[in-house]
Amino acid sequence: MSSFGSKQILRYEPGQNEFKERVNELSGENVDLCFQCGACSSGCPMTQEMDYLPSKIIRMVQLGMEEALESKTIWTCMTCFNCEVRCPRGIDIANVMEALRQLVLRKKHNEVSLDDLSPEELRELPQIAIISNQRKLTA
Ligand code: SF4
Ligand code: SF4
Repeated sequence: MSSFGSKQILRYEPGQNEFKERVNELSGENVDLCFQCGACSSGCPMTQEMDYLPSKIIRMVQLGMEEALESKTIWTCMTCFNCEVRCPRGIDIANVMEALRQLVLRKKHNEVSLDDLSPEELRELPQIAIISNQRKLTA
């Protein structure tokens, strides 16, 4: 995890609720249920590759911080659902990650392109990585 992510100051700014409501609507989740226990982050197998922990992404959305859309984390999440089964508040964090990716893709930005990979690299990719990549294009 990068030092930038761990030192990012979280703040609430009035008027940013619209972003949270959009994410809640798209994901079908209620991020306000999160009480920052950290269980999702502790069970996530991808945190070494993330700039923000999953629990921090949820907190950023709670606070209406659109910076969450610029996070590497939302593209690193591989939709394994480890976090969902651990969350004591029943939040499906993978759904929230998907909603955030959708918001980025609606701006015509795609972080990952299989077209940029060589046939050799594609052969070495785990199937789940390819499936996750393509799901990101269904927004
Ligand atoms: S679904 Fe994403 S955020 Fe949740 S544990 Fe898996 S990789 Fe981590
Ligand atoms: S496990 Fe659930 S309640 Fe705990 S920090 Fe993650 S999203 Fe929030």
